Amino acid sequence: MADADLLERLRLTASTCTLCPLAKGRTQVVFGVGNPAAELLFVGEGPGREEDLAGEPFVGRSGRLLDRLMWEELGLTRAECYIANVVKCRPPQNRDPAPKEIEACRPYLTEQVSLIDPTVIVTLGNFATKLLLETTRGIRELRGQAFERGRARLVPTYHPAYVLRAGGEAMAEMRADLVRAKRLVAAGRS
Ligand code: URA
Repeated sequence: MADADLLERLRLTASTCTLCPLAKGRTQVVFGVGNPAAELLFVGEGPGREEDLAGEPFVGRSGRLLDRLMWEELGLTRAECYIANVVKCRPPQNRDPAPKEIEACRPYLTEQVSLIDPTVIVTLGNFATKLLLETTRGIRELRGQAFERGRARLVPTYHPAYVLRAGGEAMAEMRADLVRAKRLVAAGRS
C-alpha cells in the first residue's frame, strides 16, 4: 500500500481513538493536514477550540500567523507542507497536554513522521521539540540550531502563539528559523 494510503488508514484509526481521556471532550480528532509526501513537516502542540471545531490544525490566530510566515519565508502554502500536532484532541480549557496524554498519542505522530518521511521537521514550541528530540531542554536554548532526527533534520522554533504574545524579537527569530528550514529543504538529505 502507498504511504499516502497508509496515512489515510492511520487517520481513520485515529478518528475513533479512545486511548486517553481527551477523547471524551473532543468534537473531533484533529489528525493533520497537507501533502502526505511533504518535504517539510510542522509539529505543534495540540488543537484549540477552533481546531477542534474545524477538524484542522492551526486554523485560529496562531494558524494565521503560521500561514503568513510559511508563505513569506518559505513561499509555501499549508497544502504543500504537512501540519500535525503532538496531541490530536483538544485539551479542555486549552490547558497543556498531560504527560500521559502525550504518551498515548505519541504512536500516531511517530507513524506520521515515518510515512511522510519529511526532509525537515519544524517543531513549534516546547512540547513538540521536547518530544521529538527526546530532551528536557527548552525551546529558548534549542532554537537557532538544527538537529539530526532519524532521516530528517529538525529545526526547533517558537510556537506561533508565543510569537503573537512576545512580538518583535521572537518574530524575527522565528523567521530566521524558517529560513534555516528552507535552506535545509533545498540542500536535501545529507
Ligand atoms: N496550537 C497548536 O499547537 N496546534 C494547533 O493546531 C492550534 C494551535
